[in-house]
Amino acid sequence: MNNSENSDKESFRDSIATVTQKGDRIWIFPKKPSGKFYNARTILSVVLLVLLYGLPFVKVNGNPLILLNILERKLILFGVPFGPHDFHLFVIAMILIIISIFLFTVVYGRIFCGWICPQTIFMEMVYRRIEYWIEGDANKQKALAKKDWNGEKIFKKGLKHAIFFIIAIITANTFLAYIIGKDQVFNIMQSPVSDHLTGFIAMIIFSGVFYFVFAFFREQACLMVCPYGRLQGVMLDENSVVISYDHVRGEPRGVSKDKTANLGDCVDCKACVNVCPTGIDIRNGTQLECVNCTACIDACDSIMDKVKKPRGLIRFASLNEIEKGVRSLLTPRSIGYTVVLVILFTILGFMLSARDDFELSILRTPGMMYQQYDSLHISNLYDFVLTNKTFKEIPAVLELEDSHGSIKIVGSDMIAKPQGIIEAKFLVVIKESEITQLNTPITIVVKSDNKVIDRIKSSFLGKIETFRKNKHNKEEHEEKEKHEEKEEH
Ligand code: SF4
Ligand code: SF4
Repeated sequence: MNNSENSDKESFRDSIATVTQKGDRIWIFPKKPSGKFYNARTILSVVLLVLLYGLPFVKVNGNPLILLNILERKLILFGVPFGPHDFHLFVIAMILIIISIFLFTVVYGRIFCGWICPQTIFMEMVYRRIEYWIEGDANKQKALAKKDWNGEKIFKKGLKHAIFFIIAIITANTFLAYIIGKDQVFNIMQSPVSDHLTGFIAMIIFSGVFYFVFAFFREQACLMVCPYGRLQGVMLDENSVVISYDHVRGEPRGVSKDKTANLGDCVDCKACVNVCPTGIDIRNGTQLECVNCTACIDACDSIMDKVKKPRGLIRFASLNEIEKGVRSLLTPRSIGYTVVLVILFTILGFMLSARDDFELSILRTPGMMYQQYDSLHISNLYDFVLTNKTFKEIPAVLELEDSHGSIKIVGSDMIAKPQGIIEAKFLVVIKESEITQLNTPITIVVKSDNKVIDRIKSSFLGKIETFRKNKHNKEEHEEKEKHEEKEEH
């Protein structure tokens, strides 16, 4: 193939199917798909939508199952509260998610977009279905769009947009429930608007944006805004499994009554183009606009059934599979991503399993020796930090284990507020006459609600003179005992 033929073949890449050369929008009226992939997507979408709208209502131990309150830095995932002190876990989780998406895309193409992405699910499974229900299939929609405004058009368009906006409001409130919790949302709904003016305005703006995206902006979000779509070029290679037209089997396309005409299986019916929600012709090859929704597979399979040819002229396949009959998922890139992914998941799993509801640290205050507490006792000063990772208060009580001494808290109430930190100082006070070492090991027991939550080992610094005196007394005492024993014998 010479250069000019090649550039003619690739010329469709110079523009997108939804914008004219002048820059005007070409409105897409895709035909309603039907087939096994569409049915599977419908089931998956129902499950995902039920989860999306239902999860804010689920509580575990009085906490929401999921709460993403970024404003107040409160996060609960599957009932486990996370706070700013878990930032490192979030960084690793975010890296994991991004690498997983890369890995998945390298191997399986852009399946996420067509099957899981909320944009596609809302567009194709909610908004588009309402449109089919009110305005009919593609041809009826086109006819209605061309019609002058009359009673029927006003009614259908009015009803459609009213339902669109109601869904946008419900969805905005659902997202709000993920952020501030469903109790707060219901509370706001029952209060006068003036009590929550900022929240009300935010909710109306969010609903408006949501409505605009699905009523008007539609596939442009995938084509122009979504960075993932634009990264396809660097993520896909000839082994990536994507929605592919089998040009080896399908070309040359067309229909002919002449049985000697050497045509491929594609009858050039354009059913695959007519169902495409982004308006592309997949027969041109893998394109940025393809969201892997599989509508064209269903459309082409039904045509193949009619013309009595095998299904799968459009199917999930890699370029190598179509051109060379090789299907290789294990490329150096996919192996590399998998190794990194396994390492990161192991680190994340280890960090999550080692994570406690609180973090504790007790250290003798740096730079401090002992203090003469009174004529009989000396004391050491300690720093105490307790980070509460839960959403309930943690009262803390400190006790000395196996030592004849006491703990005196220096002016703090020792109650860690939810997601808060106690930073306190305390004294360990021990009778001078009982100190027999210069550096006495001590164990401080931390209790909350009468339960031991941790035991921290530290040390108590004694006075060198006391230590010498006590040592001397002890030696004298031992000497005396030995002497008495000898005398008895
Ligand atoms: S080409 Fe096929 S899979 Fe891709 S967006 Fe269009 S209909 Fe969906
Ligand atoms: S639906 Fe199948 S047969 Fe019809 S144009 Fe598309 S690829 Fe060709």
